[in-house]
Amino acid sequence: MDIFDITVIGSGPSGLFGAFYAGLREMTCKVLETLPQAGGQLITLYPEKYIIDVPGFLKIQAKALAKNLYEQALSMGAVFRFNETAIDLERKDGVYILRTDRGEHFTKTVLITAGVGAIQPNKLGNQAIDRFEGRGVYYSVKSKEEFRGKRLLIIGGGDSALDWAYELATYAKHITLINRRDVFRAHEYTVKKVKELGIDIRLSHEIKEAQGESHIEQATIYNNKTGEEDTIPVDAILVFIGFKADLGPIKNWGMEIHGRQIKVNSRMETSLPGVYAAGDVAYKPESVKLNLLVVGFADVAIAVNSAKKFIEPSAPSYEHSTEIAERRLKIGLDV
Ligand SMILES: Cc1cc2nc3c(=O)[nH]c(=O)nc-3n(C[C@H](O)[C@H](O)[C@H](O)COP(=O)(O)OP(=O)(O)OC[C@H]3O[C@@H](n4cnc5c(N)ncnc54)[C@H](O)[C@@H]3O)c2cc1C
Repeated sequence: MDIFDITVIGSGPSGLFGAFYAGLREMTCKVLETLPQAGGQLITLYPEKYIIDVPGFLKIQAKALAKNLYEQALSMGAVFRFNETAIDLERKDGVYILRTDRGEHFTKTVLITAGVGAIQPNKLGNQAIDRFEGRGVYYSVKSKEEFRGKRLLIIGGGDSALDWAYELATYAKHITLINRRDVFRAHEYTVKKVKELGIDIRLSHEIKEAQGESHIEQATIYNNKTGEEDTIPVDAILVFIGFKADLGPIKNWGMEIHGRQIKVNSRMETSLPGVYAAGDVAYKPESVKLNLLVVGFADVAIAVNSAKKFIEPSAPSYEHSTEIAERRLKIGLDV
């Protein structure tokens, strides 16, 4: 049974920087994330947008920032468990047992950086299509290779749908992209790039049903203005119609909750010993609530330093990274 010093719930920007910071303070760290990838809102809600208020960057694309933060966390040895949602928390003999939909994790402290909650893709809610989930219907892309040589129907009009249409264009045999509105909501630049691909784009179209035996074989789509139907052969349907977020069971862990947030004090401590919250999910009664990246980064630095003191009361309250880097160099580690 591995007991980690700290377990971070959520790999959004706050959680990722927290995981890096934990490594900096020489704490072992595990990160649990509902989604198949790191980045939280950066990657799910606005991957293509440029951010201009992250210190040190004149501008940086959200997905690039997510990648950098992930790599920064990995560089400090953080262990990641994707596709895993934290559901229950129990403390036994000074150790927290964090239960997820996949198993149990043991940890001395917990850092909750769950943002707006577990972000889950919206489902179509059409049984005739949802029954093919895992057999041709996808709500995320884990490997582009999986779609090589396939005929794809991509559903959606936002950044995710158009980004994936673009990304998969060189892998797929054929792509049909449908959107129920008559315009795309994605970034103009992405829309332009996708239009230039020459794929089959149908606006004001929705899916009616899918047919197949063990796997999807064809889909019936229709024009929601004229009612005209078309049945097209498909090997996979990729659905990108937004996300919903829910703090879910975390609310019932016994912490003081304020609306959809967890109440913390100036050390980012929740009302449970050794459990901290930071970033969008944290509510600091004495402070103005700003859902900003820089606030999350500052929050996690405070939270991780507090967690370090919780585990090791004699440890310094904080250290400058320059001192830590010098120490690492002396023992032959990369900085
Ligand atoms: C369109 C848009 C533009 C923005 N632009 C800017 C900007 O320009 N500058 C700026 O500073 N801020 C911006 N923000 C705000 C910024 O993105 C958020 O403040 C930031 O993402 C919060 O980070 P976080 O890590 O606290 O939470 P999130 O990014 O929400 O990440 C939380 C993560 O926790 C995971 N999670 C939740 N519950 C669980 C669970 N039970 N188990 C496992 N995993 C779980 C979620 O899946 C998610 O990945 C913008 C936000 C939006 C929506």
